[in-house]
Amino acid sequence: MQQHRILIVEDEEIIRLGLQDNFELENYEVETACDGDEAIAKTDSFQPHLILLDVMLPKKSGFEVCRFIRKKHPECIIIMLTAKTEETSKVAGLDMGADDYVTKPFSILELLARVKAFLRRIDLQKQPAKQLASVDAIDFADIHLDFKKYIATKGGNPLELSTREFQILKYFWQRRGEVILREDLLQDLWGYTPDNMPSTRTIDNHIVNLRRKLEDDQANPKIILSIRGAGYKFDA
Ligand code: CA
Repeated sequence: MQQHRILIVEDEEIIRLGLQDNFELENYEVETACDGDEAIAKTDSFQPHLILLDVMLPKKSGFEVCRFIRKKHPECIIIMLTAKTEETSKVAGLDMGADDYVTKPFSILELLARVKAFLRRIDLQKQPAKQLASVDAIDFADIHLDFKKYIATKGGNPLELSTREFQILKYFWQRRGEVILREDLLQDLWGYTPDNMPSTRTIDNHIVNLRRKLEDDQANPKIILSIRGAGYKFDA
């Protein structure tokens, strides 16, 4: 089962360990960082869904970290932990792009509830390819695909596929049986973000070409199925 990943950034050890224990008990995958630089490095390597970010930190302040992460990982949810009760701290946090803030001392139950509410909105099934199982070669119908050597055959005969077509088929295989939106492909393979999405026609063109190469009868596809109004489904 996939778990949501939470990064806890807090220089005070007692608070950090306390938070870690509590979130691990709730079945989250947790990493911690003690200062601003480590927070940024761990965000890159661990790719958390949500960050609990203390404001007063060594090396870089929580605000600096927040501004930085917001630019590079716009999808990451950031909850600031602040010891200051002044309105300025709250406003600054929201200005820097934090999603929420919690004032210390906080109730752990309340914090857990807020985190849960944020993470409920994230569908783990639609996470980028990073978490998909790695696969070197697959066989389906009369087709063999070798993703390492970029070799494909159909019925034992060589099949010419572009690198992009190999990527699409690998992605389809990893999500076989699921409905795959055109937007999923544009985001996960092409790297577009929801606010700079191009026309999805480019995907449809790729699918037409793939069907021509893979399907016995293009007009009646059995491998790459169209799901009306949604996208495609790979049936292997
Ligand atoms: Ca602190």
